Amino acid sequence: MSKWYKHSNNFDVIIVGGGLAGLTAAIHLSKLQYSVLVFEKNSYPHHKVCGEYVSREVIPYLDTLDVSFNQFSLPSINQLKISTVDGKLLQTNLPLGGIGISRYAFDNLFYEKASENNAQFKFDSVKDIIFSNNKFTVHTKDEEFSAEIVIGAYGKRDQLDKQLKRKFIDEKSGWLGVKAHYHLEDFPKNMVELHSFNGGYAGLSKTETGAVNCCYLASYKSFKKERNVEAFTKNTVAKNPCLNDFFNNSHPIFKEPMAIAQVSFSEKKSVHNHILMCGDTAGLIHPLCGNGMAMAIHSAKLAAEEIDSYFKNSAQSRADLEKSYEKRWNRLFKKRLWMGRRLQSILLNDTLSKSVMTLITKSPWLLNKMISATHGKPIV
Ligand SMILES: Cc1cc2nc3c(=O)[nH]c(=O)nc-3n(C[C@H](O)[C@H](O)[C@H](O)COP(=O)(O)OP(=O)(O)OC[C@H]3O[C@@H](n4cnc5c(N)ncnc54)[C@H](O)[C@@H]3O)c2cc1C
Repeated sequence: MSKWYKHSNNFDVIIVGGGLAGLTAAIHLSKLQYSVLVFEKNSYPHHKVCGEYVSREVIPYLDTLDVSFNQFSLPSINQLKISTVDGKLLQTNLPLGGIGISRYAFDNLFYEKASENNAQFKFDSVKDIIFSNNKFTVHTKDEEFSAEIVIGAYGKRDQLDKQLKRKFIDEKSGWLGVKAHYHLEDFPKNMVELHSFNGGYAGLSKTETGAVNCCYLASYKSFKKERNVEAFTKNTVAKNPCLNDFFNNSHPIFKEPMAIAQVSFSEKKSVHNHILMCGDTAGLIHPLCGNGMAMAIHSAKLAAEEIDSYFKNSAQSRADLEKSYEKRWNRLFKKRLWMGRRLQSILLNDTLSKSVMTLITKSPWLLNKMISATHGKPIV
């Protein structure tokens, strides 16, 4: 039973951002009969810059939310191939593995489930969130809505971070993400490939449509020599012989690649101004770890459980709720984010990555150790 009854613009929980974190929290909380309003500035479905490899750790939890993938023919991925800048290759099993699904289909599937559970949606951009008298007011350009709880799930970086005076927003973020789908029939369905190039790395894996997603992350330092995605892809990314083969043998499906700037891996806080931050809004793990989506879903589960406990237990204060969420978030994700940062600095250092690859070739168990250090266990 909720403490806060919805009337007109008043909700138990407002969720700012309808990506995987926001939508997971919406599905979970609306399943428990709380009144939920989600703000999303784009309509569904839409493509997003992402590697589109989803770690299997989320599947048991998604089953409990009745999120079913039956309508899709999903590639089941259990092999990882990595290469150095000069194309030296290494292949290993992925102990838990993952599935390949486009964000176009994945986010839309979650949106449909949340709507089916009666979560409400406003397709508008949130401009400000104000906490006063133990309650939140959420402002769009023309309207305002109130709630007892607000979840911030608006992704890596937004104008809202500036408005909320979050510390990391003033730090420089020197990364760019690029993604496009390609047709390449004989790309193995069970494979995710990670290839380094000077200043970044690219991931390749199949999605539910049979298309191969190619998504790369590049530092501005290396990108600024070209300042043009097409030229950079041709002159820097495709310098890796494995990627060169891929571009030569495949056909682009998108008219042109999608690109996002200002990808930031700065440390953030999981609670800010009493807002519970979820997914990338609380911290983005380096994409080469391949489990940012799983972390987004998992952090939303934590937030939903803590909110449910807060509403059900009148002895629990807001401070208890925030402390408990922060503690669980740190316990689950802080070390993984740290490992992701270390791994990234190794893979982007040419000499270091070559020595690590030589070491891994001699002792392949080392790679599995790295994989397990950046991945979680199945979420139940
Ligand atoms: C290059 C790259 C490759 C990646 N590859 C992988 C991968 O292969 N596997 C993996 O697991 N993870 C990967 N990730 C990480 C993964 O994409 C993210 O961790 C995941 O998308 C986080 O989900 P989210 O819901 O927190 O954020 P998002 O998916 O970014 O959702 C945030 C939503 O909030 C909305 N929004 C923003 N501001 C506002 C506002 N003011 N008002 C209303 N709505 C707003 C946005 O429109 C968006 O829909 C990759 C990331 C990058 C950058």
